[in-house]
Amino acid sequence: MSRFWSPLVHTLSPYVPGEQPKRDGLIKLNTNENPYPPSPRALAAIASATERLRLYPDPHATALREAIAARTGVAPDEVFVGNGSDEVLAHTFQALLKHDAPLLFPDITYSFYPVYCRLYGVHHEVVPLDDAMQIQPADYRRPGSAILLCNPNAPTGVALPRAAIAALIAEHPDRLVIVDEAYVDFGAESAASLVKRHDNLLVIQTLSKSRALAGLRVGFAIGQRPLIDALERVKDSFNSYPLDGLAQAGAAAAIADDAWFTETRGRIIASREKLTESLTALGFDVLPSQANFVFARHPGHRGADLAAGLRERGVLVRHFQKPRIADFLRITVGTEDECSQLIALLRELL
Ligand SMILES: *Cc1c(COP(=O)(O)O)cnc(C)c1O
Repeated sequence: MSRFWSPLVHTLSPYVPGEQPKRDGLIKLNTNENPYPPSPRALAAIASATERLRLYPDPHATALREAIAARTGVAPDEVFVGNGSDEVLAHTFQALLKHDAPLLFPDITYSFYPVYCRLYGVHHEVVPLDDAMQIQPADYRRPGSAILLCNPNAPTGVALPRAAIAALIAEHPDRLVIVDEAYVDFGAESAASLVKRHDNLLVIQTLSKSRALAGLRVGFAIGQRPLIDALERVKDSFNSYPLDGLAQAGAAAAIADDAWFTETRGRIIASREKLTESLTALGFDVLPSQANFVFARHPGHRGADLAAGLRERGVLVRHFQKPRIADFLRITVGTEDECSQLIALLRELL
């Protein structure tokens, strides 16, 4: 605390990301990073972009937006890119969600959402997940100005089908519906194809998870032109060059490398299914996941104890000391080998 702080700063409660350990040799299953390297074509594109570091990057990230547009079936001017999807989300809160009626989102979801509400003064109300930890779209029939869903949801991994999102946006034509699809590539259905027909839908994705580029910081939004225009107005009042030249080059090449993407995500999906089976065999309840992590609890052990026991044995998983989910572990799907080591250690601990 300091007398120099703006009043708002005293009221903030910042997001705490998962641990990035300083020592080597730990198995990191705590921040949903991809266990495989990024596309070699992305790495080559980054290397050759170093020749242009003297210059400012393209402030509009034209080539990257074209690559994303070609893949998602929208026009390049229906794509907004940012420094990680966290930045895209932040601009969304600032540009589109400051209204009198509350923003609605689930009680159990990405814990950055309430942090942005505080930072930008966005009124919000949480809508509880049902007892099976699922989002029930009918529960959003209550006063509100906008709805924010993470699909598949984090940290549960549970997905809604595209038809449920389509029904929600059709039922609430005067509310903006934002779908955070950080994990959609691991088996859920993207709502991006609905953007053409609905002016109240904004879909947000990231290259951090399925494209293995968490360190590059690239995320994007897909929406009709007036929504993208609002995001650009905020971005251009904040930072003209949020994406550096290396990030733009690497991200565009990663998006274009379909073969690498298909191969690595296929391996992760196969490992997830195997991990789910092994955890179930050990007595865990595992929520049905369409993400690159599973959310699981053991009826005979506290989540905090299991997380601490694993940490002592060199494996990091995520544990949230929060109502309803304190006994769950969120376990990132690692390589086959990492998953087997995790299962062997849990067998010792249980
Ligand atoms: C990882 C994640 C993001 C943010 O990803 P960036 O690395 O900032 O692109 C956004 N939403 C959810 C739900 C996430 O899990």
